[in-house]
Amino acid sequence: MTLRSDVAGRLTDVPAEIDAWALALTKELEERGENLNNGSPADSDSRFAYERMGAAGIIGLGWPAQLGGRDMDPIDVVKLEERLGYHWLPLCGYLLSVKTIGNSILRFGTEDLISRFIPDAAAGRVMFCQGFSEPEAGSDLAALRTKADKYDDRWVVNGKKIWTSSAEIADWMYLAVRTDQSLPRHKGLSVMLLDMRAPGVDVDVHETLGGGTFGEVHLSNVEVDADNVLGEVNGGWKVLMGSLDFERVTSEKVGVALWILDQLDGIAEQHHRRSLLALRGELEACRRLGHEATRLIAEGERVSRVSSTCKLSISLAMQKAAALSVDILGPAALVDRGPAARAAGRLAAFNRASASMTLAGGSSDIQRKVIAQQGLGLPR
Ligand SMILES: Cc1cc2nc3c(=O)[nH]c(=O)nc-3n(C[C@H](O)[C@H](O)[C@H](O)COP(=O)(O)OP(=O)(O)OC[C@H]3O[C@@H](n4cnc5c(N)ncnc54)[C@H](O)[C@@H]3O)c2cc1C
Repeated sequence: MTLRSDVAGRLTDVPAEIDAWALALTKELEERGENLNNGSPADSDSRFAYERMGAAGIIGLGWPAQLGGRDMDPIDVVKLEERLGYHWLPLCGYLLSVKTIGNSILRFGTEDLISRFIPDAAAGRVMFCQGFSEPEAGSDLAALRTKADKYDDRWVVNGKKIWTSSAEIADWMYLAVRTDQSLPRHKGLSVMLLDMRAPGVDVDVHETLGGGTFGEVHLSNVEVDADNVLGEVNGGWKVLMGSLDFERVTSEKVGVALWILDQLDGIAEQHHRRSLLALRGELEACRRLGHEATRLIAEGERVSRVSSTCKLSISLAMQKAAALSVDILGPAALVDRGPAARAAGRLAAFNRASASMTLAGGSSDIQRKVIAQQGLGLPR
């Protein structure tokens, strides 16, 4: 594999050895038969890859050195994420544990939580999953019903979470839970860290269209230490919205889409070249949006309107790249194994996984709603 993409090739701040390292890891994962080729870094996971990233010092680069990070500029970290996406690494564990939950612990956690979790996360030793969605609470997160009751110095949690990526390999769940039933919906919520190996946690695993897995997590009288609450008790909504800002800057996907365009470049007929170029332009705009959102987050701003614009435009661009691959290659773009498969089946996997991109992390309708209300000031 060569780095042909103009845009990826212009990521000059990413040291060349990172490419060699990422390519070697991709090869090792393929040799191990790990689930790598499922077309969406956020829908594919490997504990092995996460641990390797930790051991190589790729995790938590933007975090303070005394917590195991390297004080790297947050925009350089995002550029690295674009590059890891380009190399088709399974990044779900990283995106949840580091980018979303690790950063949220740093922003909202007590010193005790930070010192207990961040150095281990930076070393790739601790992995999180995100327990937000429930059967009746997806887009409408404030409708969640999983509840926690307080007994002395601990909470006892009962309920069910669904679509939980990486649940079966995570050590901890970053849990959104109702802690006061008497308060209005948005006000009775809290966020806490729940040990996935605690008694009462049961995970059923389901396969996704993209080739990854989801957990359906049953929580039955699971005990959580009172010190494991992030932010204020019943002040969870603010923490949840902050976490979504981190999660919705999905720059790694730009790298994946660029890799796809690089495969199509050499084979596209004249009449498709204009579409390929237009999409490259769109992806460059997505990259810049990602950098802008990252800059604002680093400055401590609430950036929902920018991170939602970023999430919306990247997921739509990914789906355009998938559709373009079918326009250019016809049915061959959908063959995932055997001699007819293109790019070792990655194009087919990308096509399957792209369906979920406008849903995972909040649907496009919800992003448009956030942009309309918080960005444009339109009425509810
Ligand atoms: C690949 C993938 C990974 C995921 N990983 C996780 C995870 O790790 N943890 C987790 O907690 N969840 C996860 N999810 C769940 C994801 O957050 C939800 O699927 C998403 O928020 C949508 O919720 P829902 O599936 O309940 O759909 P619904 O909320 O039922 O939405 C169904 C449809 O109705 C539309 N809709 C709903 N409300 C409105 C409205 N007010 N205005 C306009 N349109 C509306 C939506 O846009 C959508 O098209 C994942 C999902 C995917 C696809």
